[in-house]
Amino acid sequence: MKMPKELKTYCPRCKTHTEHTVKIFKKGKSRITSWGERQHKKLLKGYGGSPRGKQRTVKTTKKQSMMLKCKKCSYTVVRKGVRLKKAEIAR
Ligand SMILES: [Zn+2]
Repeated sequence: MKMPKELKTYCPRCKTHTEHTVKIFKKGKSRITSWGERQHKKLLKGYGGSPRGKQRTVKTTKKQSMMLKCKKCSYTVVRKGVRLKKAEIAR
């Protein structure tokens, strides 16, 4: 799906519709010492396999979110992702 470079939508901080710049959301690098990561390591320790089982189905799509940044106040909102094969920003 092609996404527009700029978009006019509601800004929760300005409380009106303003121009936003669109970016595709990318997951940042996780900290190895974070709480969740430590808990996960604890579960994998010792006998027994993965605590939640292996994923059996192969998904062909990925949930992709959009990051919208207000041009007026530079407030960023991550819009909930939808399943897409490919997301790109139109030029
Ligand atoms: Zn704003």
